[in-house]
Amino acid sequence: SSSDDDEEEEEEEEEEEEDVMKAPDNSKMSIQEVRRSLPVFPFRDSLLAAIRDHQVLIVEGETGSGKTTQIPQYLYEAGYCDDGKKVGCTQPRRVAAMSVASRVAQEMGKKLGNEVGYSIRFEDCTSERTRIKYMTDGMLMREFLVDPSLEGYSVIIVDEAHERTLHTDILFGLLKDVARFRPDLKLLVSSATLDSEKFSDFFDEAPVFRIPGRRYPVHIYYTRSPEANYIEAAAVTVLQIHITQRLGDVLVFLTGQEEIEACQEILTERVKALGSKIRELIVLPIYANLPSEMQAKIFEATPPGARKVVLATNIAETSLTIDGIVYVIDPGYAKQNYFNARSGMESLVVVPISRASANQRAGRAGRVGPGKCFRLYTKWAFENEMEENTVPEIQRVNLGNVVLQLKSLGIGDLINFDYLDPPPAETLILAMEQLYALKALNHKGELTLTGRKMAELPVDPMMGRMILAAGEFGVVEEVLTLAAMLSVNGAIFYRPKDKAIHADTARKNFFHPDGDHLTLMNVYNEWAGTEYSSQWCYEVFVQYRSMKRARDIRDQLAGLMERVEIQLSTNPADSMAIRKAITAGYFYHVARFSKGGMYKTAKKGQTVMMHPQSCLCEDLPRWVVYHELVLTTKEYMRNVVVIDGKWLLEVAPHYYRDNEVQDNTSKKMPKVKGKAKEELTKEYADPVS
Ligand code: ADP
Ligand code: MG
Repeated sequence: SSSDDDEEEEEEEEEEEEDVMKAPDNSKMSIQEVRRSLPVFPFRDSLLAAIRDHQVLIVEGETGSGKTTQIPQYLYEAGYCDDGKKVGCTQPRRVAAMSVASRVAQEMGKKLGNEVGYSIRFEDCTSERTRIKYMTDGMLMREFLVDPSLEGYSVIIVDEAHERTLHTDILFGLLKDVARFRPDLKLLVSSATLDSEKFSDFFDEAPVFRIPGRRYPVHIYYTRSPEANYIEAAAVTVLQIHITQRLGDVLVFLTGQEEIEACQEILTERVKALGSKIRELIVLPIYANLPSEMQAKIFEATPPGARKVVLATNIAETSLTIDGIVYVIDPGYAKQNYFNARSGMESLVVVPISRASANQRAGRAGRVGPGKCFRLYTKWAFENEMEENTVPEIQRVNLGNVVLQLKSLGIGDLINFDYLDPPPAETLILAMEQLYALKALNHKGELTLTGRKMAELPVDPMMGRMILAAGEFGVVEEVLTLAAMLSVNGAIFYRPKDKAIHADTARKNFFHPDGDHLTLMNVYNEWAGTEYSSQWCYEVFVQYRSMKRARDIRDQLAGLMERVEIQLSTNPADSMAIRKAITAGYFYHVARFSKGGMYKTAKKGQTVMMHPQSCLCEDLPRWVVYHELVLTTKEYMRNVVVIDGKWLLEVAPHYYRDNEVQDNTSKKMPKVKGKAKEELTKEYADPVS
């Protein structure tokens, strides 16, 4: 908000400044000096006093104040962990939990995983000695299942509360309740923005502790007309900044790994072409699936005379603070999960951000001195097209998982649960219906034995049901493999531009005629056959890192089978049994061939397309189950298997009727080849407008 008002003032200042702007140089300060230089430091004692005097406290302070890294340490130093209890701090994002824990361990001079640790899904880096524990909000929800009163903790910090993720929102209700019967438990809600009053109201008028921020003016620039290709536009803007503007690092907001890699590629090429005519430009990506040693690079000081460009997802909006950023490039988009209760479809969508987000992003440029933010959209779009605030996740995602967890915590009445903002009733009802169809709830809405087992597994209800069904079909080993491969949430295959043909050939060698799940299983099994060789991965263009993670996830899931009373069975050749198990979990994701390369979802008749990367593209089957939908220009089904419509009556008889799965088998299935296939692929490759 300060940005526009300060415009003129800033421009005058600018002329007086010399060519190279001096950012405060953290690299010469000792780590303890850096700690003392943070805005929260002068408030250490008054903050601790406020925590002592109040059970619930809302802490508000701008990004980079030191809330996340410092407050847990202050509590530790003040003795909140003396009797062996922990300070827990939740984060909406995995990367933030890991990165911040590693930073705090370093500040305390401890080894990560000892006194300071983190816990994220499928990865527990804590020990008996852990006193400061960073974790995703989803992991704290899981802890409620084993320790409903959170006895192990003396303080819980719900951090980045303004992000309003689904789990954070649910935690508010659960923690408010725990705080009532555990007067010794301290609860902090920490937020970067102005939602503090709302949090305060929710927690019975809890006091708000404000950490005054240090913020320099940020000059905002808009484009005159909308950008057709914002990735290209972002890259061009980076280069323009690099060539015409004083030194200072650049932060670019993109929506995900693919965009970041595309932008990185453009930049690398153009920088190469410019050769020695320009200063050194260091391009660094940051996104959830980047290995942590590469994530750490964004925090390294930029060498003198060079410029750093960080290509980031939303993670850099508030969760991570990178020092030295002077320029921000904001294309105005983010990736969001979006659930349409009417169609029952959930997909990952690239959507325009809200004005609140845009202002947060701009703010990243003003931490070390006056900055500039280049918005790759028009001022008109900012004022008229963007929403004021981002809709909280609870109001736009599928609630199946959360409903299952709340039910297993014994919370029967979900309509009257204490929500900060209630979810739409229809979404809640749909989630209950889905859980009923998955046999997790009975007709009275109570948790069944199957539901209890599903809640034990750290996967969503459909995947949980698929794993349980694998027990019945005798293919547990196989289904665990594909559950792990599907959970990696990073690319399995890679495709370097200069070796694209080799990569495609290598990928095709794994293709299984029954679909992508079995293709993934082939990859895993072959890899396992090489004793998990990295060389093998390299040769067949498979990401070793993703595979290692899959193995890890697989081991963990396998380790849980005894708890859910499932015996490890195996039958790799029985594709039908494997696909029936998949169908038993994902019968909501059934689509049937319609015409012209298109599919319609079985129940609601929504149009969806086969993802061009699917191994089934060449020969479209009649009935399929898809793992997920990705929306670009169309809804694409990603990871698809062939099924027989009749199986639906067998595995989901309560959901499908005979007439809905009738096969019109006299029609020959058309093949999508040549031109049509090209169209299919081209369309997908087009950037989102
Ligand atoms: P807040 O939570 O208020 O946004 P943080 O505690 O995250 O603030 O950040 C405080 C400081 O710690 C910032 O200057 C940031 O650059 C630094 N910092 C945080 N994480 C790391 C890290 N992994 N490596 C280096 N510095 C970090
Ligand atoms: Mg923080």
